[in-house]
Amino acid sequence: METAPFIAANCGWNVPWPSAVLERAEGLPLKNLNVSVGGETVSGELLITRNGLEGGAIYRLGPLLRAMNQPELRIDFKPQVTAAVLRERASQLRTPNEWFQAWKLSPAAIALLESCFPDEGTECATAIARLKDFPVPLGGPRPIAEAISTAGGVLWQELNQQLMLAKMPGIFLAGEMIDWEAPTGGYLLQGCFSTGTRAGRAASKFCGRPNA
Ligand SMILES: Cc1cc2nc3c(=O)[nH]c(=O)nc-3n(C[C@H](O)[C@H](O)[C@H](O)COP(=O)(O)OP(=O)(O)OC[C@H]3O[C@@H](n4cnc5c(N)ncnc54)[C@H](O)[C@@H]3O)c2cc1C
Repeated sequence: METAPFIAANCGWNVPWPSAVLERAEGLPLKNLNVSVGGETVSGELLITRNGLEGGAIYRLGPLLRAMNQPELRIDFKPQVTAAVLRERASQLRTPNEWFQAWKLSPAAIALLESCFPDEGTECATAIARLKDFPVPLGGPRPIAEAISTAGGVLWQELNQQLMLAKMPGIFLAGEMIDWEAPTGGYLLQGCFSTGTRAGRAASKFCGRPNA
């Protein structure tokens, strides 16, 4: 029977944070972001953890990240505000602290901006460029034990329309043991309920209970 190896999906990713980030921002959320990988952008939230990043935005980008040799995502901390408007809001202000207040940046975003590029100087234009396009190089995904779901499993081609293994009649499969993946938000549960209903009905018929 052909299977694809199980791998973590809808999971956090490792980030080698500088210690200053963890001291200031471990456990803090980053809200109302745009997060991009390659040409794909999603809106959502992230959480800074001891190991890296968790949260809906990175879960949704998992398939793209897994396909990259050197996975990296880019964050826009102020997707609703253009660089020109940010420049305008900071035009009468002198220090980074004043700009960050004027831009209403969260403590976690400020910690990242100040801790990840400490030698970058205090140019307003540089700070705006960073907060609109902040790079985060990633290590690998977190282990399956921490993941919300898995990709991989028994290949669809091994199953007939009733979700019975063609090579092992009488064995029906449902849920995550089959090779599919979906985002969180009910899609995984719906996929499991749907395949479970179909497999259960078919198994019942197989046992000679056609009306079950
Ligand atoms: C923290 C968390 C949050 C989630 N949130 C969401 C969400 O918001 N929306 C969403 O759609 N999905 C969510 N999911 C995913 C969703 O719960 C799973 O996709 C779904 O439950 C998988 O169902 P399943 O039946 O395939 O596997 P499971 O639910 O893992 O069921 C497998 C069962 O098989 C049993 N079992 C294992 N081995 C054996 C054995 N050898 N013999 C007998 N029994 C065995 C296990 O004990 C278990 O009861 C979440 C998952 C987690 C972990």
